[in-house]
Amino acid sequence: MRDSLGRTIDYMRISVTDRCNLRCAYCMPPEGIASVPHNEILRYEEILRVVQAGVQLGIVNYRITGGEPLIRKGITDFVRMLRETKGVQSVALTTNGVLFAGMGEALHAAGLDAVNFSLDCLDAGSFHRLTGANVWDRVMLGIDTALGLGIRTKVNCVPMEDYNAAHWTGIAALARDNPLDVRFIEMMPIGLGKGFAPVSSEAVKARLRAEYGEPVPSLRKHGNGPAEYYDYPGFTGSVGFISALSHAFCGGCNRMRLTADGLLKACLSCGDGLDIKGLLRSGASGEALAA
Ligand code: SAM
Ligand code: SF4
Repeated sequence: MRDSLGRTIDYMRISVTDRCNLRCAYCMPPEGIASVPHNEILRYEEILRVVQAGVQLGIVNYRITGGEPLIRKGITDFVRMLRETKGVQSVALTTNGVLFAGMGEALHAAGLDAVNFSLDCLDAGSFHRLTGANVWDRVMLGIDTALGLGIRTKVNCVPMEDYNAAHWTGIAALARDNPLDVRFIEMMPIGLGKGFAPVSSEAVKARLRAEYGEPVPSLRKHGNGPAEYYDYPGFTGSVGFISALSHAFCGGCNRMRLTADGLLKACLSCGDGLDIKGLLRSGASGEALAA
């Protein structure tokens, strides 16, 4: 699909829940958020109808996210149904990894193509301070599980002066020692993220250059996202930088987002979206959804 600015849109991020089992300081308040009632959340069958309409338009790559997608009941079956939908070329997952070790094998069997883990800290205590939960070892086990299963794996880190400044080089080293990519994502001024001073990709690159030497731009294909990838000397995987603030990347945007409560958004910065749930529940046809 081409949008009105000439960009090819072939990727959709689907949030399957607004709930989460962690409370990362930049994302969820300690008391959690007022959960959307269950009947306001799209059912899996409804999401699949949106996907069928999307496929007709050339949206063929999908990512499941949240909240925390692995806490939603039936998620493995949903991955299978999504992967088996005619025209779908890839299904990826973004997760905090807490539940992945126990579910990885079933997700792999369901056809999951790739997984991104969010990992901002490299020790249990710092992780606990940031997320409110003492589960760092489970996340690390989740990453090991994905690597063991041969699922394409990335690790995402939001750099912060507080919480993880001492961990950036160690997190990057996961890409030195394992066949995975690490990405540093600049903090975006959305939600609780507004309360944090963003650390620029340049600041992280300077730290990594001092530790690991001069990188070269990576020529490998790394997926559907807006990251710029580099290869550091001696690293197995690459290190990517998603610089939402310091570099305008809107010109290369390829995606739409479907929120758990059924809004279709063309941009993360759009407050409102299109009420797809209303359309679905008023009996709209596939053609109407595509339109
Ligand atoms: N719970 C899953 C997880 O943490 O991977 C999926 C949802 S989470 C909202 C997806 C990603 O968004 C995580 O990597 C998280 O670090 C990132 N994120 C959340 N708030 C952000 C912000 N204000 N700026 C940049 N990234 C943010
Ligand atoms: Fe949950 Fe992910 Fe937000 Fe952390 S970043 S609170 S894991 S949704």
